[in-house]
Amino acid sequence: EQKAYAALRDLPAVTRDGTEIELFLNAGLAIDMPHLEATGAVGIGLFRTELQFLIGPQLPTAQEQEMLYRSILDGAGNKSIVFRTADLGSDKAATYMKMSHEANPAMGWRGLRMSIDREGLIRPQLRALIAAAEGRELNILLPLVTTSDEIVQARAIIDKEIERRKRQDKPLPSAIKLGAMIEIPSAAWRVEHIAPLVDFLSLGGNDLAQFFFAADRESDKLTGRYDPLHPAFLSFLKMIADKANLANKPICYCGEQAADPLMAMALMALDIQRLSVPASSIGPLKKMIRSIDLNELVAWLEPRLQSSKQTLRDELLEYAYRNGV
Ligand code: PEP
Ligand code: MG
Repeated sequence: EQKAYAALRDLPAVTRDGTEIELFLNAGLAIDMPHLEATGAVGIGLFRTELQFLIGPQLPTAQEQEMLYRSILDGAGNKSIVFRTADLGSDKAATYMKMSHEANPAMGWRGLRMSIDREGLIRPQLRALIAAAEGRELNILLPLVTTSDEIVQARAIIDKEIERRKRQDKPLPSAIKLGAMIEIPSAAWRVEHIAPLVDFLSLGGNDLAQFFFAADRESDKLTGRYDPLHPAFLSFLKMIADKANLANKPICYCGEQAADPLMAMALMALDIQRLSVPASSIGPLKKMIRSIDLNELVAWLEPRLQSSKQTLRDELLEYAYRNGV
């Protein structure tokens, strides 16, 4: 089976009726980079920069950050990389950071909220990203956006670092693109207000499902209890995808759930044409995509989004079998 996936490496992820689904990798460390070549992924849809913050004994210096980002960009060649600014706190807490106790850290001081309040954390990171990407395209993704004004605030901080670089007469990236993660319901409901402020969107299905079902993603007791293939969640995702498409902003699903070929099937039927997944999923997803007639799948899924069932998993599995996925 591994051999069969390897044979697919250089073939495009195109459905039988000609829609290309762009398959990206989720990554976070330099050791992830060889997967880009090996899998034939089109780029890195989510580079979790906080991993460097989490594995070390202290905050990485701006130089250490720049070195990592430079090596990632060098290793990617012409493929695109989306760098998410440090998404710290809650399930991604750095041991050396003093955090005051919060009863509900998943809903607490984390992600973009922390970066806006502590410019000292995000400015060296932005400086490192801008320096590492000199002469090339830089894609910056903001985690855990809750309201559109947070994007305005984040952009003002980015602009300060661009100005600083200009003052130093150092070369800038050839382009800087900004993206927002949609992973909080308030942002999902107002994608039409967020999309005009950014160049691209990313759907953080891990956090979005956590908040949608009010089910802690870290809780063993809740694992598997709510299926992301629940029609309520899928129709929520459809609303987000429709708004992104209407605003003409590309949207990439970065939640780990897309590694499941059945979930990926549902997502592409919701008109989400970019998926970012772990390296081991690229082969199986490409095989699935190449055996699907997308128009037929869209028509099949549409009425089922209104179903009162708790999951569409069985039906999707049957559909997959019937279509030789
Ligand atoms: C997500 O929330 O779906 C996501 C992609 O980011 P993380 O899992 O790192 O929170
Ligand atoms: Mg998240």
